[in-house]
Amino acid sequence: MKIAIIGAGFGGMAAAYDLRQAGHEVTIYESAGYVGGLASGFKEPHWDWSVEKFYHHWFQSDKYMLGLIRELGWEKMVLFPRPLTVMYHNGKFYPFDSILKAILFPGLGFGLDKIRFGFVGLFLRLTNNWKALEKVTADSWMMKWAGKNVYEKMWKPLLVGKFGPFYRDVNMAWMWARIKARTTRLGTFEGGFQNFASLFGEKLRGMGVKIRLGAIVESIKREQDQLWVRSDGTSEAFDKVLVTTSPNLMAKLCPDLPENYLKGLLELKSMGAVVMVLSLRNQLSKEGYYWFNLPKEEGYPFLALVEHTNFVSKDHFGGDHIVYAGDYLEMGHEYFSMSDEQLLERFLPALKKFNPEFSRDWVKKVWVFKTNYAQPVPLVNHSKNIPSIETPIESLYFASMSQVYPWDRGTNFAVEIGRRAARLMLGEKK
Ligand SMILES: Cc1cc2nc3c(=O)[nH]c(=O)nc-3n(C[C@H](O)[C@H](O)[C@H](O)COP(=O)(O)OP(=O)(O)OC[C@H]3O[C@@H](n4cnc5c(N)ncnc54)[C@H](O)[C@@H]3O)c2cc1C
Repeated sequence: MKIAIIGAGFGGMAAAYDLRQAGHEVTIYESAGYVGGLASGFKEPHWDWSVEKFYHHWFQSDKYMLGLIRELGWEKMVLFPRPLTVMYHNGKFYPFDSILKAILFPGLGFGLDKIRFGFVGLFLRLTNNWKALEKVTADSWMMKWAGKNVYEKMWKPLLVGKFGPFYRDVNMAWMWARIKARTTRLGTFEGGFQNFASLFGEKLRGMGVKIRLGAIVESIKREQDQLWVRSDGTSEAFDKVLVTTSPNLMAKLCPDLPENYLKGLLELKSMGAVVMVLSLRNQLSKEGYYWFNLPKEEGYPFLALVEHTNFVSKDHFGGDHIVYAGDYLEMGHEYFSMSDEQLLERFLPALKKFNPEFSRDWVKKVWVFKTNYAQPVPLVNHSKNIPSIETPIESLYFASMSQVYPWDRGTNFAVEIGRRAARLMLGEKK
């Protein structure tokens, strides 16, 4: 078969790998000038490693991602340090990434609230019945079972931070999946995620996959028993096509999809993200903390502060200290239209809260990355609204972050859904 894949993110490349191995002719169209999609990175001339545009790490439970790396024979290039994640309480930050640290965290006191927090956490770790949990919102479930205090201190900031105005609408299965699939050790690839993506791209090319970079797909149409992919003013015919873009873009590329399927795509909600990356002359967190969870109500202008070089060594970046300040935001939020300079003015004063000695002359360089598709928003009974991978148009397939539910988006699940789509395209069930 002659197959086209739209998108050279982790999902598209994983699908290409399996389809090519099964002996098919595969072409990937990628609008960017590089592979890796949302997990791609960039590099300064004096850095040995790349930095992800949007902060990225793996969990030890990411079995699809780690399994693929093992198949490729690159497992020695995966590193799993144990960086420190901290929670805010009364103007201070406390480590919060193990059961012991959770017990010692003063934010919940040491009485009934802590016991409820522990039991709810344990229950969510042990249960597999996410279908029951998707029937209720995380807001109402947590209020009932964890209690007002625990919910408001621990879980509500997370929901508000990730989902902004939709935080009350997100279902409890999302929270379950987050708690279920996380580990304290966090993983990365030698050279950064972009190094993995580039090596994978080279591997695919070596196998005979055509990767067309800078190729923006404009439309996909079914005519004369074939699917026609239009890019750069010309159309090429394929037997099967897999699209790995956002649902919105899928709807635009394939307007001939039946109304029901199109409506389903367009009704899916998602959040965008704005992330600033700064290279600094000095370490920001003297304690060596990696990930700061920040409550919005305390006036921080972003949701997460992530000091990347407290996760991987600054030596890979010529001694630069790399810090991310990021937020998930609904489209139309002012951050999407602000210039990089305006955002810097908004963000800089907050950095003193992490280190009072911080001053503007620590900043060597600043980059800002924005995406309108960063985090799907799963509402109550969301499983009924997931678009099928096999679309109603014959031989046209769709696999995106919005379909990995009940799991939360991530490169691990991009690999899983990409490979699942490949199996369907090959006529294998599951
Ligand atoms: C802020 C943020 C933090 C994250 N943190 C983590 C993390 O810590 N760990 C983790 O594992 N995951 C994380 N993720 C999620 C992870 O990046 C995604 O789940 C994953 O990269 C999705 O892969 P994909 O292949 O499905 O889609 P994408 O990576 O979006 O790939 C789709 C590709 O399609 C291309 N494309 C779009 N339109 C067209 C067109 N018209 N023609 C041709 N090509 C087109 C795009 O350029 C892109 O390369 C994070 C994401 C964000 C936004």
